[in-house]
Amino acid sequence: MLLESGTPGFDALVAPGHVATIMGPEEWQFVVERHDIPAAVAGFTSESLLAAMYSTLRQLIEGRHFLDNCYPEVVKPGGNRAARRQLQQAMDVTDANWRGVGIIPASGFTINEKFRAHDARQAFPSYAVDARKRAGEMPPGCDCASVVLGKIYPNECRLFGAACKPRHPIGPCMVSDEGACRIWWSAGMREPVAKAKRTQANA
Ligand code: SF4
Repeated sequence: MLLESGTPGFDALVAPGHVATIMGPEEWQFVVERHDIPAAVAGFTSESLLAAMYSTLRQLIEGRHFLDNCYPEVVKPGGNRAARRQLQQAMDVTDANWRGVGIIPASGFTINEKFRAHDARQAFPSYAVDARKRAGEMPPGCDCASVVLGKIYPNECRLFGAACKPRHPIGPCMVSDEGACRIWWSAGMREPVAKAKRTQANA
């Protein structure tokens, strides 16, 4: 969706290794072929992440764009065929609502009819109640959607470090260890962007 928008907000892609482990690194080939953007698959280790960042930066500098697999010990061509077969058997690809972003066509999985008995959405009809859906929307003042879409840095949210901290998270990006705001905070970033810029300018 971001790449098709024409203003993705990034000029290289570090692709998630867990997705590529199942789907195969080829899943990301379109980034290079259709959008001419460097891409590298990374795992969840410092070495693999550094290798992927190095690869994408080097591709950018040299103007030579390709898909690099920097997690080859786990990510294999074609992915995990058994897991893909099981996904195909149990899931349908459907439109999905991404919190704060909206509905993106064909971006989600739904348990299919055959496995309906295992679908919590069917077992708990309250899932479809409007009030409950609204409770799952982004809290007022939270800019998580913009953070996730790469449009702003976490400390550009006016709640960052003020009302929203890991001990008192307002939005989902401050809750999960994988959340951008939480990572930003854990890395020692404490000041709002405007103040950080002022400090740099005065230095
Ligand atoms: S999680 Fe907190 S800091 Fe991050 S965008 Fe939401 S409110 Fe702002």
